[in-house]
Amino acid sequence: MSSLKSCKKVELHLHLEGAASPQLVRDICKSNFTQIPEIFDKAGNYKWQNFDQFLSIYEIVTNLFLEEKNFEALIRHVLDKQVKENVLYSEIFLGPHLWSDTPSNRWERFLEIASKAAGEYKNKYGIHTYFIIVCIRHLGPEKALEASIFASKAKSYNVVGFGMAGDEKKFNNLDFMESFNFARNSGLGITTHAGEICGAKSVDEAIQLGVTRIGHGVRASESEETITKLTKKNILLEICPGSNIAMGLYSSLEDHPINFLLNKNLPISISTDDPPFFSTTLSKEYEGLHNAFGWGIEIFSEINKRSLEFAFCDAKLKEKLIQQL
Ligand SMILES: [Zn+2]
Repeated sequence: MSSLKSCKKVELHLHLEGAASPQLVRDICKSNFTQIPEIFDKAGNYKWQNFDQFLSIYEIVTNLFLEEKNFEALIRHVLDKQVKENVLYSEIFLGPHLWSDTPSNRWERFLEIASKAAGEYKNKYGIHTYFIIVCIRHLGPEKALEASIFASKAKSYNVVGFGMAGDEKKFNNLDFMESFNFARNSGLGITTHAGEICGAKSVDEAIQLGVTRIGHGVRASESEETITKLTKKNILLEICPGSNIAMGLYSSLEDHPINFLLNKNLPISISTDDPPFFSTTLSKEYEGLHNAFGWGIEIFSEINKRSLEFAFCDAKLKEKLIQQL
């Protein structure tokens, strides 16, 4: 369906470095005269087999973009892709601890570069891009608080939220309560990854953090009780079907619980997470969902409107953009 490619989209769950295509990585290595790391298969795609390998390649990729000019090339690369996918509004995860272990001038400088590029693309293409600062879960609660404090001071750089990414198996969501409270009290939206690698219990913990959205959260489908809690609290699940399948959570879209969760009337959004790592794009996700469940343009439009209702930008902008969907 060509209308799926051309329909306007909202994306709430996208990691900046995770959106770097293998070609961009190779180009950056060439222009920096650095050796191309051994992270690709014979076809030139990222080569990983499990979550731990994925995380270590992610780190290698991130380290290639630590110079300002490379970081700028990355953000422009990602925004170019968003334009191609007809994204109207997106929120992109930025993890400053991936840029330096402790808060440094680079954190603010990179945000300045990112928000300036977002402003340019808004003027040129009418796409609206905002940022969510994420702490890296496996680095622990103290680092998380550093990221949360930084996020609270970065609103002038299009930062609208605070979240948590990283290894779901390390620590407990509730260990990060202080960081999430701090971010929420400073007026930021909050979201966390849960219910992806770990089961429904991790979603229950995320709910206790007071989030209004959960990254993935699909394993809530394993517990009626958890689904009821999500419904009562009106929490949106940022679902990334291609990512879940590539990670081996489900063998195919037909086995994925997205349709089940939608039928439970839970608010959901559709995103790509780290698209080149999972050989996906937003259009591919839409196409797949259309083929697997017969979803048409009306359903996608409803999902996108609902996603905007849960976006972390201000209410006025949401209202304006909902009219455009
Ligand atoms: Zn993610």
